[in-house]
Amino acid sequence: MSLSLFNTLTRGVQDFVPLNPAGNKVGMYCCGPTVYDFAHIGNWRTFVFGDLVRRHLEFKGFAVTHVMNITDVEDKIIRRVRETKTTLTAFTREYEATFFADLEALNCRRPHHTPRATEFIPEIIVLIEKLIARGVAYQAPDGSVYFSIEKYRGCGCHYGQLVKLNFEAMRAGERVATDEYEKESLADFALWKARVPEDGEVFWPSPWGEGRPGWHIECSAMSMKVLGPSFDLHLGGEDLKFPHHEDEIAQSEGATGKPFVKYWLHGAHLLVEGKKMSKSLGNYFTLRDLVAQGFTGREVRYLLLTAHYRETFNFTLDGLTGARTALARIDECVGKLRALSGAPGAGPSRSEAQINPQPAESEPGGPPSLLASFTAALDDDLNISAAWAAVFEWVRETNKQLAENALTATAASSALDTWERINSVLGIGAVAEAEVPAEIVALLEARQVARQARDFKRSDEIRDTLKAKGWGVEDSPKGPKLKKL
Ligand SMILES: [Zn+2]
Repeated sequence: MSLSLFNTLTRGVQDFVPLNPAGNKVGMYCCGPTVYDFAHIGNWRTFVFGDLVRRHLEFKGFAVTHVMNITDVEDKIIRRVRETKTTLTAFTREYEATFFADLEALNCRRPHHTPRATEFIPEIIVLIEKLIARGVAYQAPDGSVYFSIEKYRGCGCHYGQLVKLNFEAMRAGERVATDEYEKESLADFALWKARVPEDGEVFWPSPWGEGRPGWHIECSAMSMKVLGPSFDLHLGGEDLKFPHHEDEIAQSEGATGKPFVKYWLHGAHLLVEGKKMSKSLGNYFTLRDLVAQGFTGREVRYLLLTAHYRETFNFTLDGLTGARTALARIDECVGKLRALSGAPGAGPSRSEAQINPQPAESEPGGPPSLLASFTAALDDDLNISAAWAAVFEWVRETNKQLAENALTATAASSALDTWERINSVLGIGAVAEAEVPAEIVALLEARQVARQARDFKRSDEIRDTLKAKGWGVEDSPKGPKLKKL
């Protein structure tokens, strides 16, 4: 069965057919964090959703190029840099490192490319020049460069592909300079913002004078630079549909004249304890807040993965306790299969003669196997509830067979193989993997930051600290791997 996904662009569920003629390469862009604070649990729902999409595509044999930008210059960041009297780089790198540590704690596969906006200023300038040359962008008297919605629509282009907009209320030439605005403020938006005193030292030279890029143009420049003018998948939270994603489409298609993205996927909102998350209500959680309450990244990941991505999800602390119980059921079953199969680290294995031979997977014509029902569920627009139902049905059935001594070591080992394949999509790991303390993960991230900055003295020091705490690091082309010493 082929994969189908809900495409916001067409407002319907569609078969997924990549742009690549051979059909096995997929370019996927997810809007990444704005690094001015710790990401909250609502943000994490979107990133875990992106990770599920990527893992399922890889499970189905697609070669995915996953790109996630780091927004390290933007209105909120500049305000915080000013308030904290630090520099842009010092401020943003710290939050970037904590973001990646949390991403790892949630067992999300690291994107292949994580471009920073501040390192793409030349590409951003080239893109804005192209939009000016095509007559859809202009420099205003305030020195900033804006995208003209009127001119863009005048060329026969479609503004409002993801959301319905009321153009009656729009007044031609009206401008909005802030990065975030409501649908009601439909207006020309800033591509390049002229330097103002409040920006402090955050500015770059450009053909239009000193200034900085707007938020929306960052994503167009970085996604097209890495994935090309047209690519397969673009993901983000539903709150980004307007203005951010709509503006990304306008800037990209306005510059290239080609369709920007084939499938747009949007994850729904998250409530916490039945209410919209807010600091004043005391229901605002970062991953760190939950870890401080004794929960693990694995439990948080599991809970975030229990709801369909297009449904509003009510995240509760009771739900996290339930996640712990559910994971324990899986761990117990998998642990018993390990012991029976004689897998390394398992308890004493039993000889095959002692148990009845019975295949773990069903015979042709029998009930569908775990692998088949799990795949069919996720192929159906990522129907995660049906996927979990298949997993827990398998756990129940396997436990029954174990209790009846009805599994051979070979059958147990084959059941484990199936579970490993399923788990490559769910990414809920095994208990041992989940036991890497947050402090160790943070040190590993700090070492990566030092290595990227070519500060090898610092990276060696961190390696020694990790060693003193009982953890070794092995560097591989896929990134560093932790090993318990
Ligand atoms: Zn974006």
